[in-house]
Amino acid sequence: MGAGRVGDALAERAYEPVIGLEIHVQLSTRTKMFCGCELSFGEEPNTRTCPVCLGLPGTLPVTNAQAVHFGLMIGMALGCDPAPRSIFHRKNYFYPDLPKGYQISQYDIPLARDGRLGDIRIHRVHLEEDAAKLVHAGASGRIHGAEASAVDFNRGGTPLVEIVTEPDVRSAAQAAEWLRLLRVTLRQLGVSDVNMDEGSLRCDANVSIRPVGETTLGTKTELKNMNSFRFLERGVNAEIARQEELLREGGTVSQETLHFDPRTGALSPLRSKEEAHDYRYFPEPDLVPVAPTEEMLERARSALPELPAERAERLERDMGLAPDTARRLAFRSDLGDFLEEALAADSEADPEAIANWVVGELVANIGDADPADTKVEPQALAALVKMVGEGTVAGSAAKEVLAILVADGGHPAEIVNEKSLGAADSDELAGIVDQAMTDNADAVEKIRAGNDKAIGAVMGAVMRETKGRADGGEVQRLIRERL
Ligand SMILES: [Zn+2]
Repeated sequence: MGAGRVGDALAERAYEPVIGLEIHVQLSTRTKMFCGCELSFGEEPNTRTCPVCLGLPGTLPVTNAQAVHFGLMIGMALGCDPAPRSIFHRKNYFYPDLPKGYQISQYDIPLARDGRLGDIRIHRVHLEEDAAKLVHAGASGRIHGAEASAVDFNRGGTPLVEIVTEPDVRSAAQAAEWLRLLRVTLRQLGVSDVNMDEGSLRCDANVSIRPVGETTLGTKTELKNMNSFRFLERGVNAEIARQEELLREGGTVSQETLHFDPRTGALSPLRSKEEAHDYRYFPEPDLVPVAPTEEMLERARSALPELPAERAERLERDMGLAPDTARRLAFRSDLGDFLEEALAADSEADPEAIANWVVGELVANIGDADPADTKVEPQALAALVKMVGEGTVAGSAAKEVLAILVADGGHPAEIVNEKSLGAADSDELAGIVDQAMTDNADAVEKIRAGNDKAIGAVMGAVMRETKGRADGGEVQRLIRERL
């Protein structure tokens, strides 16, 4: 077989991406992981430090009990088994953001392992400390002619939980979708701000590809610190494309850490990926193992709220909502809460109708805002949806009423009266339809001749005349009745 034939065979191969995610979550404890310094929220650089988190000789770390509690909550929420006794290790590497010369992390026995969130298995959940932050001064901060960087140690020692998935993700879109689920789950737990812009939720992706049908894993590369869902998706897609091209050309993928530049879409190597032994992990001699007591486990278990995945399932099962609607309401707990309050106000309310108004028209009005921060009351939305169902207000007029409810509050029935937005009654409507058909005789002829689109002209005339107080379906029925 000639080289050309081999090349053709390679080019025809279909590849499957295999993706695993590593997520770092900054915990919202009051103090740092191993010292009493308060966490920093944009304070002056190097004002939240002490000898422990600056790594001065002779200091001793002490484990933050609240961080362990949050870590256990996360592990349990992800369906993991907490280890009876997990230990801290020193992960050694030299970098200016690490004053001790090592990071305290966990290695062979993590806090919790073997869980699942949605359709992705969780490999492990462990505790560690964050590194300090490097501030690159650029050309303005030259020292001896070289561009200087400064270190802000405020972030150093912030408690982190690292979550590592199994390589179960098969596309960039699935990675972003799953990260959204993880983020709302963590937010619901109240253990972190989960703000990707500010770095309290950071995601790395391990990406490899393999021929479809192959079961062994290809060589993976690591994409570091994707700080938005969109960048994660774009970065992973770019890396899959890069690896495919490499393999199709007969090349090989080398194990390395890559940086994705969202502005240019380019991937550039940061460093060749370290193996675990490069870090010379060894047990941290200054810390006792984390051995959760039955009481600690129970406290973590009872602190778990209903999680988004569970809520979506319940909304689907008990209220008969469409899976997508249920997910949208569960993933934004403020919307889910609003729906459930609206339903509580009226035992005969139609969950599906109200849910559709919440994820549709209400979100169109309020965007990302919490409906509880707007003027519209859940009971008011329930009453409005009921009026639509009974035909006392038409859909388009109801949208107008909702906009008023969001801006000013009030009761839908009163707004409908005040603004004369009530549905036109059938006699009134019949008269308006007759008039519109007379005024648009051309269009009526076209409809009769089989051009169904011409009905738009007649309907438009009726809608203008009634100022949206007529139900579109009803108007169409009346027109057809008269053809
Ligand atoms: Zn400190």
